[in-house]
Amino acid sequence: MQTNRPFEYLIPDALSDVVVPGMRVEVPFGRGKRKIQGFVMKVKDTSDFQGKLKPIVRVIDLKPVLSNEMLKLSYWLADRTYSFQISCLQTMLPSVMRAKYKQFVVPIVENDPEVVALLQGKPTFEITNQLDDETIKLINKLRKNKKVDIQYVVQNQAVQVKRQAVTTDLNVIQLHEEKSKLRANAKAQIKLLEYLTAHLHDLPVEFNVLEKDYGISRAAIKTAEKNHLVKITEVTKLRKPVGMTPEKTTKMSLTDEQKQAVDQIDEAITDEDPKTFLIEGVTGSGKTEVYLQSIDKALQQGKTALMLVPEISLTPQMVNRVVGRFGDQVAVLHSGLSNGERYDEWTRIENHEVKVVVGARSAIFAPLENIGLIIIDEEHEASYKQDDNPRYHARDVALWRAKVNKSPVVLGSATPSLESRARAEKGVYQMIRMKKRVNEQKLPQVQIVDMRDAENSAVKGDFSPVLQASLQETLNKHDQAIILLNRRGYSSFMMCRECGFVLKCPNCDVSLTYHKDLGKMKCHYCGHEEPMPQFCPNCRSKKIGFYGTGTQNIEQQLNDLFPQARVLRMDVDTTRRKGAHAKILSQFGQHKADILLGTQMIAKGLDFPDVTLVGVINADTTLSLADFRASERTFQLLTQVSGRAGRAQKSGHVVIQTFNPDHYAIKDAAKQDYETFFKQEMYIRHQSNYTPYYFTTLISVANQDEGKTLKRSYWLKKQLQTALSDDAILLGPSPTMISRKQNKYYYQIIVKYKHEPKLHQRLLEILNETQADAKSGFTVAIDNEPQHID
Ligand code: ADP
Ligand code: ZN
Ligand code: ZN
Repeated sequence: MQTNRPFEYLIPDALSDVVVPGMRVEVPFGRGKRKIQGFVMKVKDTSDFQGKLKPIVRVIDLKPVLSNEMLKLSYWLADRTYSFQISCLQTMLPSVMRAKYKQFVVPIVENDPEVVALLQGKPTFEITNQLDDETIKLINKLRKNKKVDIQYVVQNQAVQVKRQAVTTDLNVIQLHEEKSKLRANAKAQIKLLEYLTAHLHDLPVEFNVLEKDYGISRAAIKTAEKNHLVKITEVTKLRKPVGMTPEKTTKMSLTDEQKQAVDQIDEAITDEDPKTFLIEGVTGSGKTEVYLQSIDKALQQGKTALMLVPEISLTPQMVNRVVGRFGDQVAVLHSGLSNGERYDEWTRIENHEVKVVVGARSAIFAPLENIGLIIIDEEHEASYKQDDNPRYHARDVALWRAKVNKSPVVLGSATPSLESRARAEKGVYQMIRMKKRVNEQKLPQVQIVDMRDAENSAVKGDFSPVLQASLQETLNKHDQAIILLNRRGYSSFMMCRECGFVLKCPNCDVSLTYHKDLGKMKCHYCGHEEPMPQFCPNCRSKKIGFYGTGTQNIEQQLNDLFPQARVLRMDVDTTRRKGAHAKILSQFGQHKADILLGTQMIAKGLDFPDVTLVGVINADTTLSLADFRASERTFQLLTQVSGRAGRAQKSGHVVIQTFNPDHYAIKDAAKQDYETFFKQEMYIRHQSNYTPYYFTTLISVANQDEGKTLKRSYWLKKQLQTALSDDAILLGPSPTMISRKQNKYYYQIIVKYKHEPKLHQRLLEILNETQADAKSGFTVAIDNEPQHID
């Protein structure tokens, strides 16, 4: 069973100078001989413990891996997120230290006699479990005197590996020609050419990928090489992220609105006032320049700055803007980095080599010291909340760190979350509004197309006459267009046209998604996959169809409608490989394509001057979510994507196709009118007792046995009830929208409340009590202020 409190251990004499808070150590635990890993939280001279203290077995790190600030944060975080402190500590660690790694001593002062003796002529000294105490003491002393440093190297990535890969000199047309010359039974060759055509912008591709994912053998590749269809090259496995060498930029002269914003933030940095600003700035109002110049103010005062952006907009565009301004003073942290690269960035931060950190959610735990400013761009993004334990929101952590560091926080968005906007209303946050676009361009003109109209619904495919005409016009002018397909993961499914059978995942209560390029059916929840069926598994009819509008389908429609247009597709399939995302965007930026088609991932942050048209297909998809934030999410998405049009000299045009043209989320988004939307949505939240009028906590229970799940849920409900007053609202237990995932049944209870002094303690008790349940296959999760309810 996990425990949620610290334990006391004896520090052996030999390690007395070595052990400091923030290190990991190995200790015996429980009655048996079991040894576990622990974090040193505190070192004391005496102990009140009555029994005999057990000694620490060995130190795992020779230098602390977590700072005092992080150790302190872990207490608060565990309490706030109802999770175990150990899981908070582990979350804060750079991921390399959760992987398999080796530790090395590397010299700083090479000619020091003790260093020379330790290294014995080798460039580094490996730290193993078997080191004697004397050696550990020596290393520790040398490290304290800054004569050596300790480095972690991920084991399987320590060496750079070269791998065979395929590329081609042929263009799309030539590939088509070559394909038509092939005999119909040259299946592997056809497959290979099809792959190359679809991924032309993302070559070279490794042999491995072709073999594993597409079943294209080495022999087939060699044949293609002999026929001059492809070339064989090598790729290095550890590539640096693309687009990391941006041109140096200098400060722009600010507009009045920008200047006002920077001045206010500057004042708070100078006064070391940990207040929170909310910048509500329309798309294109120049928020980024405000961030950059505010960061500069912090640096001028000898401080550091931390900037969070959503993973999805960690495109080279945003990174380039920051790196372009501050050069190698910047460390970038995101999931596209390998463990090794991530560790390198982490080390640079720890060694005070950088002054600015840009990263996604977990970068909020960066070991930056002397923070003068924390910025959260697109603060409304749900991805700032972690879906797993510990379920923390980066915004909350930012506010905590800001208080400790006495630094202001800047939250920015064109569409702030209702929570933040409401806090600004109450004066908890200080509001900064930026109402004008920098270029004095009007906001794009938005046209709503009612897809229920006969004219539109009669249209074959997904493009209304209005959108078709607008696209044609854009192409004629040699401008660029962005097409957003608003979709949910599993929209492309298999159905039998004879009996209506839908192919579902055997483990989850969802239909399987059809992946054309893999020729497979996949479950997006558990990863289950199976080959595409040739006939209906239910009635054996051959009349099976693949339904739903996936991006591949839309791409096909675009190709049919505008054969001359060059289309780039951006979705989970085309961005799976490292750097692919950046590559697509840079190609679009260089105007090597006319239309960028994509899912939600293209909605944010992109700034391309030639884009004058944005089209939205299926604006309603997000409206139909069974979540109280459905309207908010829809409004945000539509406003954000509309803001991609007309950002430079040219004016923009937006076409939104919808079946709900009268819905306020769609109408207000069309006008880019956040304030009107805010008022209407606040009214509705008030009516339905939701955030920000009420606090919300969600407790979910899962088990393989549905009866047991329900029973446990009712027991939990009772536990909660006895701690709550009559003012609290308790909903459920009810099955979640997808009630079965990975063969487990999910039920949830929702608590909505304003002031319940006993609730916090009760939830902590539940956390502890339900630990024992884990053994009998129960998963109980407590989500404080959930981002998704489904
Ligand atoms: P937002 O993030 O608010 O949507 P951006 O920060 O992307 O807007 O700015 C929009 C465009 O205006 C960018 O191309 C940016 O380079 C440009 N810009 C911003 N501030 C200025 C300024 N003071 N002078 C000239 N151009 C600016
Ligand atoms: Zn059938
Ligand atoms: Zn599944």
